[in-house]
Amino acid sequence: MRIISIIVPVYNEAENIPLLYDKLARIGEEMREKYELEIIFVNDGSTDAGQQVISDLSDSDDRVKYIELSRNFGKEVALTAGINNCRGVACIMIDADLQHPVELIPEFIRKWEDGAETVIGIREDNHSGDKIKRAGSSLFYKIINRIASVNIIPGATDFRLLDRIIIDEFNKFTERNRISRGLMDWLGFRREYIYFKAGERGAGEPGYSFFKLLRLAMNSFVSLSLFPLKIAGYLGLIITTISGIIGLFILIENFILKDPMKLGFSGPAILAVFIMFLVGVVLSCLGLMALYIAAIHGEVVNRPLYVVRKNSLKRKDVEDS
Ligand code: UDP
Ligand code: MG
Repeated sequence: MRIISIIVPVYNEAENIPLLYDKLARIGEEMREKYELEIIFVNDGSTDAGQQVISDLSDSDDRVKYIELSRNFGKEVALTAGINNCRGVACIMIDADLQHPVELIPEFIRKWEDGAETVIGIREDNHSGDKIKRAGSSLFYKIINRIASVNIIPGATDFRLLDRIIIDEFNKFTERNRISRGLMDWLGFRREYIYFKAGERGAGEPGYSFFKLLRLAMNSFVSLSLFPLKIAGYLGLIITTISGIIGLFILIENFILKDPMKLGFSGPAILAVFIMFLVGVVLSCLGLMALYIAAIHGEVVNRPLYVVRKNSLKRKDVEDS
C-alpha cells in the first residue's frame, strides 16, 4: 500500500486538531483503496493542551504520528521536521487552523497522479482580513520577484503536495536560514496549481504577528537574493560618477580656465564635492566586499549545483546491485 503523508504544523491549535483530524480521517476513508494516509502532527512547542490531544489521537489511531519539538521553532522549521521524517510517496502540508480546505486533498492527489511533481495551493484574495498584512504581502511579492532568481507566485501558500523526488532533494538542503516555500520553488520540477479561498481561521490566534511576518520577509530576501547586499555598491557607483563629473567640471572651470563663467565656487562647496566623491568610493568598496560575501554565502549555504529528475547514466537498479 502506498503511503501519503499529511504534514500539519501545530502551534497552539488544541481546539482545531480534532476538527482537522475528523476531516482528514474522512478523506482517508475515501482513498482507502489506493492509499494509506499518514498524518504527522509537528507540535511546534505549543503551550496549550495540544500535545495531549495529539498523543490521544495517536494512541487511538495508528495512522496518526507526531513530532514534538522542544520549543517553538517557527512554522518553517516545523514543516522541515515533518518533511525530513515523512515516509510517504508524496506529502501534503496543511495548516492546522482549517484555513486550508481539507476537501481539496483528493484534487491535489489527482493532479499528482496526472504527472505533476508538486501541486501548489494558491490562495485567492478573499478581500477580508488585515489590510496592512495584505498590502505588505503584495509589496513583498513585487520586490522579491524583481530581485530574486526564482519566480514566486503571489498567493502561493504552504498548502502543497510534494512528490517523493522533491522530498528527497529538499532533505539535502543544509542551509539554516530557510524559507521552505522559496527552496521548493528553487528546486523547480513540474508544477500544477490549485486555487482556493482561505476560510476563516478556526479557534485560536494567528501565530504570525506583523513583526514575525516582517522577519519572514527579510529572511526570504536574504536567502533568495543577493540584491540587498549589492545596494551599497550601486549607490556608491552612482555617487562616485555624479560627484566625479561635478568635480572634474570644477577642476577645469575653476582651476585650469580660471573661472571664465564667473561661477565662483566657494571653498566649502568644493570640499563638499570632494567629500561626496570619497563617500562614493567607500560605498563602492563596500559593494566590492559584498560581492565576496555573496560568493562566501553561496559556498556556505551549499545548495546543490543542479537538481536531476532522471539520469539514464545512473539507473537505480544498477546502483542498488
Ligand atoms: N504555526 C507553527 N509555528 C508557529 C506559528 C504557526 O507551527 O510559530 C502553524 C500554525 O499552528 C498553523 C500554521 O502554522 O497550523 C499557520 O499559522 P497561522 O494560521 O498563524 O498563519 P497564517 O494563516 O496567518 O499564515
Ligand atoms: Mg492561518
